[in-house]
Amino acid sequence: MSGDPIVAGSTGPVSHPPSGTHRSGSGYGGANPRDRTGIMAPKPLAAKTIKDLEKTLRERRQELLDTATSMRAEAAEAMADQDRSDLLDEDPAPVTDVERTLMVSDIMAAEVEKIDGALERITKGTYGFCTSCGKRIGIERLRALPETELCFECASKRKV
Ligand SMILES: [Zn+2]
Repeated sequence: MSGDPIVAGSTGPVSHPPSGTHRSGSGYGGANPRDRTGIMAPKPLAAKTIKDLEKTLRERRQELLDTATSMRAEAAEAMADQDRSDLLDEDPAPVTDVERTLMVSDIMAAEVEKIDGALERITKGTYGFCTSCGKRIGIERLRALPETELCFECASKRKV
């Protein structure tokens, strides 16, 4: 078995990404993405940039899953210990630690979900654009926060 050509996204022409049909603001003429002049159309991210970010996302995802799994196991152990000390009427076990561990692993699970969403957008070809306003997300922001779906402006509006 060798030479299987079907490797996801590794080969093939990258010349025509699936251009989104969700163009808002139709009243504004001249910004057609198919227009060769392309003065107004936001440039999509370079394929290499997306690949780099995708790699980062996948690595972080795996890391989060590994950490969450071991944290959950530790919490389960701690809870079992706590049950035992209840029976023996000993010092109360540090419940807060267990609770905090579970909380952190919930937060990590939420981040994994966000990463999944970003990977899905990469597949669809919409990655790198704000899901709220449709503008390009700054590359520096993507590098720092590759799973983000919002541009800086929209993200700061939501936080307020
Ligand atoms: Zn936005």
